[in-house]
Amino acid sequence: MLVGGGHAHVEVLHQFAASPLPGWRITLLTREAMSPYSGMLPGVIAGLYREDQALIDVRALAARAGAEALIDRATGIDLAAKRVHRAGGEARPFDLLSLDTGATPDTARIPGAAAHALPLKPIDALLPRLRALLAAPPARIGVVGAGAAGVEVALALRARLPAATVVLVAGTAGVLPGFPETLRSRVTAALAGRHVDCHQGDDVAEVFAEGLGFARSPPLPLDAVLWATGAAAPAWLAETGLARDRAGFLRVDDCLRAIGRDDVFAVGDCASFDPLPLPKAGVVAVRQGPILARNLRAVAEGRAPGPYRPQKDWLVLLSLGDGRALGTRNGLVAGGRAAWWLKDRIDRRFMAKYQGA
Ligand SMILES: Cc1cc2nc3c(=O)[nH]c(=O)nc-3n(C[C@H](O)[C@H](O)[C@H](O)COP(=O)(O)OP(=O)(O)OC[C@H]3O[C@@H](n4cnc5c(N)ncnc54)[C@H](O)[C@@H]3O)c2cc1C
Repeated sequence: MLVGGGHAHVEVLHQFAASPLPGWRITLLTREAMSPYSGMLPGVIAGLYREDQALIDVRALAARAGAEALIDRATGIDLAAKRVHRAGGEARPFDLLSLDTGATPDTARIPGAAAHALPLKPIDALLPRLRALLAAPPARIGVVGAGAAGVEVALALRARLPAATVVLVAGTAGVLPGFPETLRSRVTAALAGRHVDCHQGDDVAEVFAEGLGFARSPPLPLDAVLWATGAAAPAWLAETGLARDRAGFLRVDDCLRAIGRDDVFAVGDCASFDPLPLPKAGVVAVRQGPILARNLRAVAEGRAPGPYRPQKDWLVLLSLGDGRALGTRNGLVAGGRAAWWLKDRIDRRFMAKYQGA
């Protein structure tokens, strides 16, 4: 039973389509038939891609893998009875379970955020929300959180809505915290050059219908607020009885198995890798996909699973929304149209693998 059509499970289905697992019935239980690929979402917002170019038809992918697709929401796991509960029907039994259900927005900490901000997560709900936003474009938009997703979304909105005021609210952490200084300063210059205002040095204390309140600085009037801060663990995981970290994400060992379980795996944003902290990034889930596929096959065939060894560094390419990108790897930074060409090529190749007939 695969729960969630996230970035790792699409690879598992792809591999099971190429090389079936004899004697096993595979079920994909996921909330949406079309799973968005996060790498292309800012490009969709900017108008560089159509929505369908960034969506993976997981129902079709499941069919190619000989798997049953249940488009429904998992609501709980009964580990003793080995069953997954769901919102729209009877619980389903499993022998082997894998969870790739992503994260939820981190809106609970800030008063008013849940009521007034548009969260970027979960990403399967993002496109309908953005469609509604862009149908009646606001004059002043704030994007709270200046990690990679917040930066890309602010720049994409700038490209899509040239007349709007776009403010990136970076708080005390600043723009792209944790990234190399050279990239941070290049991105800050790119934001300024594209007239994206940057609000820094003070954290959001409250979200109102009319804008943002801060700890020290004056309120910022806005017509729409997008919430791009860190990820929170989906609440339903708390009831599963699976081991969780302090933030509520599912703890997994080096083989991506839930701690203390031989029959449950978890990957991507919903998982917390015990051996070392990993960012909540699509690239991590993508890299875990082949290891997960191999380990599910191993356990199904009575063999021992193998370890996932995270890369120490990887290529990060940020879309600037206008057919240019900035990239960094091993501390080096490069940018321009060539960087966008590379990002576009990587993303299209990724999608071609899973969208294929
Ligand atoms: C705008 C934006 C741009 C981003 N760009 C990048 C980028 O360029 N590079 C990068 O590395 N990261 C990027 N990220 C981060 C990236 O989106 C996440 O880290 C990534 O999506 C995590 O993948 P995942 O497989 O864990 O989960 P997801 O991709 O979130 O997939 C979760 C799946 O589980 C399903 N699901 C959820 N709950 C349930 C349930 N209860 N029952 C059944 N199904 C369920 C969902 O429908 C979905 O199919 C971006 C994020 C945003 C918001």
